Amino acid sequence: MAADFARLQHDIRRLEEAGAKILHLDIMDGHFVPNLSFGVPVVEAVRRSTHLPLDVHLMLQEPQKYLAVFRRAGADFLSVHIEVAPDPRTLFDEIRKLGAIPGLVSNPPTPVEAVLPYINDCELVLTMSVMPGFGGQTFDARALDKIRRIRRVAGENTLISVDGGIGESTIAAAAAAGANLFVTGTALLGKPDVKKQFQLLKQLVANDDDE
Ligand code: MG
Repeated sequence: MAADFARLQHDIRRLEEAGAKILHLDIMDGHFVPNLSFGVPVVEAVRRSTHLPLDVHLMLQEPQKYLAVFRRAGADFLSVHIEVAPDPRTLFDEIRKLGAIPGLVSNPPTPVEAVLPYINDCELVLTMSVMPGFGGQTFDARALDKIRRIRRVAGENTLISVDGGIGESTIAAAAAAGANLFVTGTALLGKPDVKKQFQLLKQLVANDDDE
């Protein structure tokens, strides 16, 4: 969402050159979240522009209806919200059948107990550190405790992701809590030197690992 959509390929190149491992695409439906973002044609365009894995974050009221189309558009990861998928295992199965990797997301007010039973049924567990769909929010520190609890239950290979307000002042705390995949938007693409900023953020994560 932080990309310049008129120069999408340019921004994708900036992220690739900086060292990004995964591109995170926010899909909003105007129902589950109050905003709209973009849909299938943009995901297809991103797919044509990069070999990086695409992590497609479905902020949709009825994610089950759209798994196949986003997979066909090029999604490698399909992440669904626990708030609209009370039994996410059915969706995980469907996502795997489509050849993608399932992820589970929870919003800041959702208790961690809602996601803990499913952590070992998916490969990616994303904790929102802002309420999705609203602009200009700061990092919600409640996410850190959720990430700590998730880290304790999750297997070694689980991607423990955090999304919302991640930047220089928050990334180390998220890493210390146990996150190993960091979604950044303007904190990266908003900088003139994306590569330098990526190195800085990476260093903040690495320093935490040393401690
Ligand atoms: Mg997102």
